[in-house]
Amino acid sequence: MVTRFAAGRESAMIRRLLGNVLLCLGGVVGLGSAAHAQFPQTPITVVVPFAAGGPTDKVARDLADALRKTLGIGAVLVENVVGAGGTLGAAKVAKAAPDGYTVLLHHVGMATAPALFRKLPFNTLADFEFLGMINEVPMTLIGRPGLPASNLTELRQWVHDNQGRINLATAGLGAASHLCGLLIQQRFGVTMNTVSYKGTAPAMADLLAGQVDLMCDQTTHTSGQIEPGRIRAYAVTSLQRLNTPALAKLPTLHESGMAGLQVTIWHGLYAPKGTPAAVVNKLNLALRAAVQDPTFVQQQQALGATLISDARLTPAGHKKFVESEITRWGQTMRATGQFVD
Ligand code: ASP
Repeated sequence: MVTRFAAGRESAMIRRLLGNVLLCLGGVVGLGSAAHAQFPQTPITVVVPFAAGGPTDKVARDLADALRKTLGIGAVLVENVVGAGGTLGAAKVAKAAPDGYTVLLHHVGMATAPALFRKLPFNTLADFEFLGMINEVPMTLIGRPGLPASNLTELRQWVHDNQGRINLATAGLGAASHLCGLLIQQRFGVTMNTVSYKGTAPAMADLLAGQVDLMCDQTTHTSGQIEPGRIRAYAVTSLQRLNTPALAKLPTLHESGMAGLQVTIWHGLYAPKGTPAAVVNKLNLALRAAVQDPTFVQQQQALGATLISDARLTPAGHKKFVESEITRWGQTMRATGQFVD
């Protein structure tokens, strides 16, 4: 009897305890989903893995304003976490709390880094939720003011005459400028001295000061220097000529003896793996609205960029595209033999 009574009391206690635990869990889950439903309630931070003032930073700052409006929050902050060709910023977001309040805006470096860094502190495909692609931007081959070559034909000659003495600026291994610079060196058949910066903004400052000779960088960053003639501009990396005021005069590399050479840099948004689906969905919807924001569209198009409007705007389409880019650029990057341990 005693035992049965005790057992009865025990099981009642266990049921009560279980009930309380379930209630708590329900509360937490309820609160959690309510929180997801109300996301975002405070400013979110977009991590940019390159220096302020450069092309990746420019996309982020223009997009931040459009996102702020579509998310209905007071601010979308931009934080520059620079170094190691953009991998430090990406690693920081991979390890951030998966709550949607810290996201990464990165470019083709998400696809080139896996082939270059032996101990990459993140896995592009496994450590992120893909939020959608933003834009595509062609690049320009530019030179320091006064470089004694005023067009691509003269540049080809100058490059050959000055082999071993040419400094090519890049934003680090795996950066867009590195990738484009590699392809151009291959086509010129020369090797240049690569000078790495934490972004192409500081590299541009050195190019303007004549400290480095050449750079390949996105039109969104170079147009402002090309139009007033502050730097030499040789060609664009798109297959067709571009029609913005700054770029209309430039030939394509493709039409200038480098047939088929095309470099288009894409940017996308990422959240840490494990970010709840409802939050991923909200950020994706906000991005979709942002890429149609007239101010953002105008800011980007005026500088030669195109906003994404196809399946790559969806998380699944974005991930599929990055997978194909990892395969596409991996070989080119590995062929350089420039690995980081
Ligand atoms: N666009 C640069 C690059 O990857 C990086 C930057 O945004 O500064 O070369």
